[in-house]
Amino acid sequence: MPIGGKKVLPITHEKEHATVVSSLSGREWDVSGQWNRMLESRVLTDYSYAGLGKIAALPGGESLEYCYGCGKCVPVCPVDLVSEYGPRKIHRKVQTGLDLFTSDELWKCTTCANCLRVCPKEVNMINIMPAVREIAIENGNVPDELQVVFEKTFRYGNALGENPRRRHAWTKGAGVDVPVLPSNPRDVDVLFYVEDYWSYHPRGQHAAQAFSRLLTLAGVDFAILGAEEKTLGDSQRLAGEKGLFEHLMEDVVATLAKYNFNRIVTPDPHGYNALVKEYPKRGHNYPALHYTQLLADVVDKLPLVNSINKKVTFHDPCYLGRHNGEYDAPRKLITAISGVEYVEMGRCKSNSYCCGGGGGGMWLDGFNSNHLSERLSERRVREAAETGAEILAVCCPYEVSRFEDAAKSTGNEHLQVLDIAEMLDMATGGIGAFAGTV
Ligand code: SF4
Ligand code: SF4
Repeated sequence: MPIGGKKVLPITHEKEHATVVSSLSGREWDVSGQWNRMLESRVLTDYSYAGLGKIAALPGGESLEYCYGCGKCVPVCPVDLVSEYGPRKIHRKVQTGLDLFTSDELWKCTTCANCLRVCPKEVNMINIMPAVREIAIENGNVPDELQVVFEKTFRYGNALGENPRRRHAWTKGAGVDVPVLPSNPRDVDVLFYVEDYWSYHPRGQHAAQAFSRLLTLAGVDFAILGAEEKTLGDSQRLAGEKGLFEHLMEDVVATLAKYNFNRIVTPDPHGYNALVKEYPKRGHNYPALHYTQLLADVVDKLPLVNSINKKVTFHDPCYLGRHNGEYDAPRKLITAISGVEYVEMGRCKSNSYCCGGGGGGMWLDGFNSNHLSERLSERRVREAAETGAEILAVCCPYEVSRFEDAAKSTGNEHLQVLDIAEMLDMATGGIGAFAGTV
């Protein structure tokens, strides 16, 4: 398969005539040509170190040059299944002349970490890609649709460019009291950090309402920040906007300093990743949970009176599972619902496929449509449908809309995509728009 770049033909060391003689029979063989070449040292391809050196010199870019070409990363890379990708291929392309700083290859990686899981040399694309992207962005080499999201996030504090004052508009339909801390400051146990897609996307708002009802049923003392909340911006960081992430972090830390709470709970695995991994690196430590972890602790208090008599499969979010090791809490919640027939997809847990939304991919569907044979979310939906499942359960705010679109575009409309919070809400007889639809 052609790998691009400037190739240099092998230097051959071929003798005009060479023979070997059998010590037993005395017969003589002509081993000129191909056989003969194997007896000499040779260089298959010469290349300049300049490309790799430029990346290795970046903080975070060091490990790309550690690659020794074993190839383990390529079959597990979700992008390779719909394109030509994986760290080994990127390493080789850079060796043979690709300028990653200006190449479209830079934006395909979702930072899903499946390659890092198997790489014996710890080539770390989760550090390499943001480091190179940061320089590319400084030089104006960034896909337009991603640049728009960066600007919206900077201006409005959310990736959707929505009015910050409407952050908690969803609470009106919750059917329970959702306390807003800035309106009523008090000590609270759980600070519910709603994040962008549960605040503004219609399906996310349903899940936020369902989660609020579940917290109320379980007797959890909680509150939200309302208009004072801004995104934690971890996906923007991984897409290369480290400066924006740090700017947001200063605002978030200043806001959090005004209130007293015991722990932060967020539905967004990307936000959760920021709180447990990135904030501590910069001296900010908050006890943080993903919402499935909190619910798994209190599920025994929920009156799960309704059955969901359906076959259900579950998609592990990369930033909850592979990045942060939580595989059990979501499964505990799904299987706590009576009637559920649970089935795993072939790719699950640490080897789960990626929905395509991580590392900025959430905002690059237009760009990727020119580079991938199909969206990662479409491939994943087909995997879910192959299990015979009727419900694809999710627990990342990016995924409901991604998978719903993919179910339509792949002809799998029969596959219902539901957040785990929505499923539990139905099981408790919640009042959500989706109650009674399964
Ligand atoms: S698994 Fe690691 S060392 Fe092996 S080819 Fe991939 S990046 Fe290189
Ligand atoms: S992080 Fe994921 S998408 Fe990126 S190269 Fe590795 S396996 Fe592929």
